[in-house]
Amino acid sequence: MNRYWSPVVHTLTPYVPGEQPKQTDLVKLNTNENPYPPSPRALQAMAAEAAESLRLYPDPNAGRLKQAIADFHGVAAAQVFVGNGSDEVLAHCFQALLKHERPLLFPDISYSFYPVYCGLYGIDFTLVPLREDFTIDPADYRIANGGIIFPNPNAPTGRLLPLTAIRAILDDNPDSVVVVDEAYIDFGGASAIPLVDDYPNLLVIQTLSKSRSLAGLRVGFAVGHAELIEALERVKDSFNSYPLDRFAISGAVAAIQDRDYFNATCQRVIATREQLAGRLTELGFEVLPSAANFLFVRHPGRDAGELAARLRERSIIVRHFNQPRIEQFLRITIGTDQQTLRLCEALNAILA
Ligand SMILES: *Cc1c(COP(=O)(O)O)cnc(C)c1O
Repeated sequence: MNRYWSPVVHTLTPYVPGEQPKQTDLVKLNTNENPYPPSPRALQAMAAEAAESLRLYPDPNAGRLKQAIADFHGVAAAQVFVGNGSDEVLAHCFQALLKHERPLLFPDISYSFYPVYCGLYGIDFTLVPLREDFTIDPADYRIANGGIIFPNPNAPTGRLLPLTAIRAILDDNPDSVVVVDEAYIDFGGASAIPLVDDYPNLLVIQTLSKSRSLAGLRVGFAVGHAELIEALERVKDSFNSYPLDRFAISGAVAAIQDRDYFNATCQRVIATREQLAGRLTELGFEVLPSAANFLFVRHPGRDAGELAARLRERSIIVRHFNQPRIEQFLRITIGTDQQTLRLCEALNAILA
């Protein structure tokens, strides 16, 4: 407690990101980073940028990047918003579109940043329990609300909601903004972006952190009706004119344009995920179906917290959430094939 703080600061419970250890020889499978480097074209573009223009402010509108995203997804640039990681895009979204009289709805098991933004912006929310199998039931969202948000695939479960179900939620809620957080959609799901022309209340958020291997660059974006984007621009321009620096803009444009590299690395991650799912099942784990770059798994005979600790002793870190309903699960990021092998060998020894 500090008497100089604004009152709201005393009430905040900040988000706790997954550990970023100093030790470099770890098999780091705890924060869903991509095991492969970014597109070489992105690295070249950033090197060229560094040589040229850092003296000057970047484009406050990041117009080149909006156009690259628009071209990739077949929408207009006016339907695209960009921000400093999708976390910032989400934050602006909570303030610009999801703060209403009625409570915001999101799943009880979902991205743990959502309740944090609600705390920061004073947004009332209601948790909607997932089904027993950790899937979202669209019928549960037929209640009065001031907005709806969920990740798809969901985090940390990895479970995918089909577009028919997303349409059902949109059809049931024409007066609310529905935000679909697609941080992991490129690892096996169908994006809801093609639906934005049918639904003026749909906002889809994506990030370059996972499928484009650029977590360190901090670039995220939203696609939706131009009027939803306008609300986000108003908040952004009341907060920070230059959320994306010159490296971020030039690197992100090149990464978006390098479709072959993107497709190849996504396919590698998916192939490794399927292999790992098979191996973990053989080791006795229950593995939830995943459309993401991680697996959510439980061992019927072993405590998850203890398994995570034993892996850590062997320099392998995975994520354990000490949270109701999922305290016996581990979330394991898909690494390289070699990292996967090390993980399986370690688990084999621990379980023996
Ligand atoms: C990783 C993640 C984000 C944040 O991504 P950044 O663009 O790195 O901020 C947002 N939503 C979900 C569900 C995520 O898992």
